[in-house]
Amino acid sequence: MSRDPKYDILFEPVQIGPVTTKNRFYQVPHCNALGHARPRAEAANRRVKAEGGWGVICSQEVEIHPSSELSPFIEGRLWDDRDIPQHRLMTDAVHEYGSLAGIELAYNASHAINHYSRIAPMSPSLGMVHNNCPIQARAMNKRDIKNVRQWHVDAARRARQAGYDIVYIYAAHNMSLLQHFLKPQYNRRSDEYGGSLENRLRITREILTDVKEAVGDSCAIAFRFAVDELRGTDGLQAECEGRDVIGMLAEIPDLWDVNISDWDNDSATARFKPNEGFQEPYTNFVKSLTSKPVVGVGRFTSADAMVSQIKRGVLDLIGAARPSIADPYLPNKIDEGRIEDIRECVGCNICVAQDNLTAPIRCTQNPTQGEEWKRDWHPEKIQPATSDDTVLVVGAGPAGLECAMQLANRGYEVTLAEAGDELGGRINIECQLPGLSSYARVRDYREAQISQKPNVQVYKGNRLSAEDILELEIPHVICSTGSSWRRDGVGRYHFSAVKGIEHVSVLTPDDIFAGVEIKQRVLIYDDDHYYLGGALAELCVRQGKSVCLVTPDSLVSSWTVYTLEQEKIQTRLSKLGVEMITLHALQQVDKASATIASIYDAEKTREIAFDSLIAITSRLPRNELYQQLLEYEGRFNTLLAIGDCEAPSTVAAAVFAGHLAARNLQTHVDFYEPLFRREMPGLD
Ligand code: ADP
Ligand code: SF4
Repeated sequence: MSRDPKYDILFEPVQIGPVTTKNRFYQVPHCNALGHARPRAEAANRRVKAEGGWGVICSQEVEIHPSSELSPFIEGRLWDDRDIPQHRLMTDAVHEYGSLAGIELAYNASHAINHYSRIAPMSPSLGMVHNNCPIQARAMNKRDIKNVRQWHVDAARRARQAGYDIVYIYAAHNMSLLQHFLKPQYNRRSDEYGGSLENRLRITREILTDVKEAVGDSCAIAFRFAVDELRGTDGLQAECEGRDVIGMLAEIPDLWDVNISDWDNDSATARFKPNEGFQEPYTNFVKSLTSKPVVGVGRFTSADAMVSQIKRGVLDLIGAARPSIADPYLPNKIDEGRIEDIRECVGCNICVAQDNLTAPIRCTQNPTQGEEWKRDWHPEKIQPATSDDTVLVVGAGPAGLECAMQLANRGYEVTLAEAGDELGGRINIECQLPGLSSYARVRDYREAQISQKPNVQVYKGNRLSAEDILELEIPHVICSTGSSWRRDGVGRYHFSAVKGIEHVSVLTPDDIFAGVEIKQRVLIYDDDHYYLGGALAELCVRQGKSVCLVTPDSLVSSWTVYTLEQEKIQTRLSKLGVEMITLHALQQVDKASATIASIYDAEKTREIAFDSLIAITSRLPRNELYQQLLEYEGRFNTLLAIGDCEAPSTVAAAVFAGHLAARNLQTHVDFYEPLFRREMPGLD
């Protein structure tokens, strides 16, 4: 197949200063927590995107000096010449496919706490550092400003030596010194670097000019700038400083990379920004003020939306971080007329969570993400089957669907049996919750792929028993039968059933999705801490119920701190009128009321009356079938439990488990042997 001519515009070259990108697909800088600690994995991760057709592939933010270092977070590092070879790995990989390599030089200032270097962080004026750390950043003097300028120049020269084509100057996400200089809240200086906007912009103008002079003959200089902080008059606004800054610097950078701040707004999840192109209302003026190319993001996964951005003059280059993570081959698929093969990002921010956890990147949709070097996995290629055997996959949730699809890709004959009338498992129910409809993409992509494969037989409405399976005499059986929510309150806080709970008809998420009626006064007890508690509270309010949410944690949906959603969830629930009681646990339950107690003082109790009690605590693997089959283990070549059926977890973990099982089938004896490479620190 070849590409639809209406997408030709996406494949036009664009000149960016002294370099030219072969097309308009632009992977903007994004973190992956591989960086300086795992340079081979970093290079392999970016390489696959070059292979997949992205015209520009950028690094993550790269520290340029130990006085602004992000430990324990793992980003890029370019402190001195010894860091250059690491970057060479990445730029060589990118150049192999005719793509351009970009580097985001970052001086994070008070956003970097310097846990490793132990140097006092610097800021335009004396101020607090981020993350509630009990440290203050010292005010920069003129010598510091001179140094920071020089460090940018030194880093830019090293970047050029490392083979980069585009060098970024960074003023976005509220994570950068240059943005902090722009903000009156951070910049209270009385010298020529403070006060008027012209003054607050001075250091940025100087650094852009310095770096352009140093490397601008061969490298393009990009300026990544947050035009709006979405704080109204308490922050930078597109219609005020955003517009003015772009007007004042219009032709200085070779490329404008524009977005909104902070990171939670730039990388907004689908739950809070469901539409692609959600940044357009803030960034659409930029092109009118500069003749230089403009790149912007907005979780673009549809080729039509991308074309529209170009044709309407909003952007010149289609920026993507998450869409390139979910599908590194997105450009090639458009080019080859394989639109329906695009694995669309669901907007869940599991990728972001990993970075916040200082752990290597992973992705709900793309289980090979971060595994390119470590496991030698490729998002589009998988090794062929080693036999003509048939494989039975029982259960078609995320784990079963991924497993069946990849086994079919390997060439196995696959039988996929699903008890329900639809494929999708937990996705079918969770995607009905407010804001989570895009999660259906996990199911839809795999279902569509499977439907095109003649070697997969799908049986819906087919609940298999152990006897059924034994009768089939299939040598490889993979149980991906999922999990069920507990109704006894056992979770993180309670190790045994909550007192009295056995006399109450507790609802679980499973009951709600099965259609059990929720009555007027709802008490939600959330000891799971991910999205379900908050999302169910929202659902109930939208159905006109009154809702009280109790959690032993100090925040509602606390794990979503990592996905950058927590503040937004708690704000939304507050605005919806949900009563939220944190740091309390169920102590005892009666038919229509619960006693909750402070987790710090069991004597401090409260009574909460309810008509429906919803418990979201923990899950039990639905593994009875697997346990029964284990009695006959000798009759199978392979017998496995994967995904939630093995250990309840995230959708990303289930997809990964399905992928791992499919990759490993008949390749080695022990499935649990950790078959991956690790990077060893060099001893210099
Ligand atoms: P995971 O996240 O691990 O993929 P899910 O709970 O999403 O798990 O999906 C499990 C699927 O397995 C559900 O759709 C469920 O209907 C199906 N299932 C459970 N038991 C059986 C069985 N005995 N036979 C066929 N399908 C089953
Ligand atoms: Fe998109 Fe989620 Fe994958 Fe991140 S983890 S790229 S948000 S699907």
